[in-house]
Amino acid sequence: MRIDGRCHCGNLGFALETALTWETLLPRECDCSFCRAHATRCVSDPEGRATIFAADPDRLVRYRFGLRTAEFFLCGRCGVYIGAWAEEAEGGFATLNLRATAHRDRPGAATSYGRETAEGRRARRRERWTPAELRLGVPPPAAAGPA
Ligand SMILES: [Zn+2]
Repeated sequence: MRIDGRCHCGNLGFALETALTWETLLPRECDCSFCRAHATRCVSDPEGRATIFAADPDRLVRYRFGLRTAEFFLCGRCGVYIGAWAEEAEGGFATLNLRATAHRDRPGAATSYGRETAEGRRARRRERWTPAELRLGVPPPAAAGPA
């Protein structure tokens, strides 16, 4: 299936292609203070493929905090958090916020990563996040309905 996400104003968006189903995709609710402030519910598939779009790259806020091993992408116009991006030697990896999609109300499981080291965190992302491409200056494709 393909899951399309967009921020509120449409500047940022993503497409996640996955062979997983809603029975196997398992949305996660991280317990860090950033994710709780956004009521984040994230999905990823290491066998899938993700593309992140930023129509106006000057309005892509790339926020880092904590161990600073990933960038959290927020829209600089409407403020919506669409997902996180990590650049590793192998390429980009992303986890994407289901709250920015039409599937925002599907349930997620509480998850805690607070005890990880920076190396452990980066290894987990390479293992579990979705291989991803960042397309700056490219508007998100039209979603199949209100996101
Ligand atoms: Zn926006």
